[in-house]
Amino acid sequence: MLDQPLATPAHHATGDQRPLAGRIALVTGSSSGIGLGIARALARAGAGVMLNGLEAPEKVAGLVEQVAQDCGTRAAYAAADLSQPSAVAALVAETEARLGPVDILVNNAGVQHVAPLESFPPAKWDLILALNLSAVFHASRAVFAGMKQRGFGRIINIASAHGLVASPYKSAYVAAKHGIVGLTKVIALEGAEFGVTANAICPGYVWTPLVEKQIDDQAKAHGISREEVVKKVFLQKQPTGRFATVEEMGALAAFLATPAGASITGTALPVDGGWTAQ
Ligand code: NAD
Repeated sequence: MLDQPLATPAHHATGDQRPLAGRIALVTGSSSGIGLGIARALARAGAGVMLNGLEAPEKVAGLVEQVAQDCGTRAAYAAADLSQPSAVAALVAETEARLGPVDILVNNAGVQHVAPLESFPPAKWDLILALNLSAVFHASRAVFAGMKQRGFGRIINIASAHGLVASPYKSAYVAAKHGIVGLTKVIALEGAEFGVTANAICPGYVWTPLVEKQIDDQAKAHGISREEVVKKVFLQKQPTGRFATVEEMGALAAFLATPAGASITGTALPVDGGWTAQ
């Protein structure tokens, strides 16, 4: 794991605008996409945030500085490959050492691979299960005792509409995301009497590098063009006819972390433009 100095705030807002002031959040896979959107929203609400991703610290230094400056809170970054259980535990330990005990854990890091079952590479299955599902277990396990002891905790797992329904050619991803929804319910039940909530956010398609990278594989698997993938595979699922946004994911995660979210636990919340209502 690589170190980088703490970025410090430029300004502070006060009062209800910052309902998470004094809280510390760890957002996995937050150097990009949905994780970055959530990190920004939590920081704007007042939380100190540990960002994480695979990128070397010098590549994301500007981004971390921006989160701290824009949001007026403390931010730091640690690179870690969370497909390795020991790296997950080390990331939690580093967060606690640099920022303080983790009050809000957002398990967001994830990858995708699209291929028919019979040619799905076993190594991709192993990676997707390790990162998208097992890392959620390892990180939650590492923060849980402390959260229970302190009487407050928010575990927010980024599942997917694919945690609720399936699509072809995504065996590992759909299995892992359904697994997250089940694991979230167990954590919610075990945390309920200790002020610790656990919820899964289930986004539909959000335009991020993860989706962009799928276009060629989807085109190949379905035998259609790149343009048709966007229209017929992605947006055809979502009655709103548009991609959901990282800001929408951030706003929901920040709400769940506030005191107003105290009774919301064990849920799988679709943010999918109506996809799973069909
Ligand atoms: P993204 O590719 O933009 O970002 C992925 C992040 O995970 C990056 O920060 C990357 O560095 C990090 N990462 C990748 N491998 C890692 C590893 N081994 N260890 C640690 N970090 C790693 O992806 P995104 O679209 O923002 O997806 C984020 C989460 O949202 C994923 O869990 C994904 O399954 C879920 N999701 C995305 C969509 C979508 O349409 N984009 C829809 C539903 C769910």
